[in-house]
Amino acid sequence: MKKKIIFTLFIIGVVLSSILAYNDYFHNISFSNVTAGDKILIWITTLGLLVYYLKLDQSPQLVPATINAEKKKSDDKAKDDNKPDVSFNDVAGLDEVKEELQETIDFINNSEKYMKMGAKIPRGILFYGPPGTGKTLLAKAVAGETNSNFLYASGSEFVEKYVGVGAKRVRSLFEKAKKDAPSIIFIDEIDAIGTKRNLESNNEKDQTLNQLLVEMDGFNDNSTVVVIGATNRLDLLDEALLRPGRFDRHIHIGNPNVRSREEILKVHTKDKPLDTSVNIKDIAKKTHGFSGAQLANIANEAAIIAVRNKKLKIDIVHFDSAIERVVAGLEVKHPSVLLKEKNIVAHHEAGHALIGKILKIDMIQKISIVPRGQALGYVLNFPDEDRYLVTKQELENKIKVLLGGRAAEEITFGEITTGASNDLEKATEIARQMVCTYGMSSFGHVVIKENYQYNQSKIDSEIKKILDYCLEDTLKILEDNKMILNDIASYLLEKESLTGDELDTIYKRYKVPLKNAT
Ligand code: ATP
Repeated sequence: MKKKIIFTLFIIGVVLSSILAYNDYFHNISFSNVTAGDKILIWITTLGLLVYYLKLDQSPQLVPATINAEKKKSDDKAKDDNKPDVSFNDVAGLDEVKEELQETIDFINNSEKYMKMGAKIPRGILFYGPPGTGKTLLAKAVAGETNSNFLYASGSEFVEKYVGVGAKRVRSLFEKAKKDAPSIIFIDEIDAIGTKRNLESNNEKDQTLNQLLVEMDGFNDNSTVVVIGATNRLDLLDEALLRPGRFDRHIHIGNPNVRSREEILKVHTKDKPLDTSVNIKDIAKKTHGFSGAQLANIANEAAIIAVRNKKLKIDIVHFDSAIERVVAGLEVKHPSVLLKEKNIVAHHEAGHALIGKILKIDMIQKISIVPRGQALGYVLNFPDEDRYLVTKQELENKIKVLLGGRAAEEITFGEITTGASNDLEKATEIARQMVCTYGMSSFGHVVIKENYQYNQSKIDSEIKKILDYCLEDTLKILEDNKMILNDIASYLLEKESLTGDELDTIYKRYKVPLKNAT
């Protein structure tokens, strides 16, 4: 506007100066009152206006309207780019979450209806749960369903060395959201700025969190801006952030169950040519514990493998390879494993598989001694159904399967190797949960907080007790069934991998009922 006025005054000045310069040609206009000093003043003013205009616009072509139109076009485009082309149809499963979010969507789409009733829009929603479960996707879908601007920020972007920088970023994010409302602000990893404050707090982090709290309080009740936060650690967040009026709606987004896995796989295979051998239901069963992101990855990997094999359709072998790739990592092409080590790995994996089979823990899909990722061998297994309650004995059996590798090494070679470190870590974690979380130890039916230091040594000895009796049982089971253990190991050494059906065949060769230590 200012530029337009200056530009108009400059044009008037140019016209006036021209008239005065050539006043001999304008006979019917009298300039008798205009002195030489006035003329100089008009010329200087016009020149001044030109200089000022040039300063206002660094590229002052005399067609500012065109430039503005171009700029506006690109601004509009940027604005549209912020509106995600994602809807609830792209989010598979999570029906209860979508239902919960429906109200917020209606609030944004029909805000007047709610405002007339004096209802306030929910300001903050917190998604929490493991990584890759679709939290970002859902937030985008809320923006897509309401045609809102989607402003993404990661908590770590606000973590700065210099005091005040993070707070300033929070302020500008909210300013932008309010300007472009309706908007959805999505703050991923909100724990990076929202963890509990304490006495030794970090000044910069506190200022950033305070600014976030202030911004959330300071929303105009009429502004349709919703903030969605996401975290894997709800327990770490500052209470001030969770109180009513801020992030007061907490929605847990966990790993999908078998039905949701099937739906997610359908979404990610809908545009892919599938062979008739592919049964999505079966793949969903085999992928217990996988997140939505892992399932999307499997569908993509399977397609890549099919292309690599020069196939026109993706078949079940491609899917199985993709699952293996995601679970166990990349196959090592030219492994330099010594024969002696291969023998140990074969017995180690046979130990896991045999204990799993005898204790009926999970379905075994494949055993392999072909190195993948960091593992020299692996057993691919999955539960035959989704479980929500697990008994104490089932937890102990899981520990025994994990210890099966180490026990097999000890029985066969009389010594142990470093190969069991990952198994031991997992087994210890289960035992720790039994002691501290599930009240399944000699401490009784209590939950034990680990942050009290004096508990630690007692907790450790309880964990050790569980691991010790589980290892004892595992050794006994393998001793009783040593022939099968050796048989599986020899087969592995010869063929390098074994399917679940092949394992069953070996198992059935032994007519005597298998002894079992439990
Ligand atoms: P993080 O906590 O690591 O940020 P997240 O929970 O935000 O992860 P997303 O980024 O939303 O996870 O999900 C990653 C990808 O996984 C999505 O882009 C999508 O392809 C796929 N995905 C996850 N959940 C679903 C789902 N329910 N339906 C369809 N696709 C999904």
